[in-house]
Amino acid sequence: MSLRELYQEIIIDHGKQPRNFGTLENANHVQAGHNPLCGDKLMLYVCEENGLVKDVCFEGNGCAISVASASLMTEVIKGKSTQEIETFFTAFHDLLTTGQEPSMDLGKLMALSGVAAFPIRVKCATLAWHTLKAALANDNKTVSTE
Ligand code: ZN
Repeated sequence: MSLRELYQEIIIDHGKQPRNFGTLENANHVQAGHNPLCGDKLMLYVCEENGLVKDVCFEGNGCAISVASASLMTEVIKGKSTQEIETFFTAFHDLLTTGQEPSMDLGKLMALSGVAAFPIRVKCATLAWHTLKAALANDNKTVSTE
């Protein structure tokens, strides 16, 4: 299996069976996100304590890229500090917009590296992250990628 095929498998897997899908009862940050270009919508539930993301869940619907990206994000950020998350997002965003090898290990997020070749899908892949950023900043407005 080539790396490209492996990445494809991860996206299909997470798109069909998203991890951490549902609501979170003890969430102290709840944030809606919307990508009108594609119609992707999600609701993010974050339980944050002393700058650490203890738990995170999401629900919503959208294209396979947006769902897979949200699912992978929840796996990556659980247990991380808001500062580490910010660093991850910056590196991930750079990867998607430049297509160049990231300066840090992005783990499973690399599955979305192919999105760099499709600029219109970058918003699908970053919706969950923009929503997360707003959630942690306690910005209660619906996030729109527009
Ligand atoms: Zn989309």
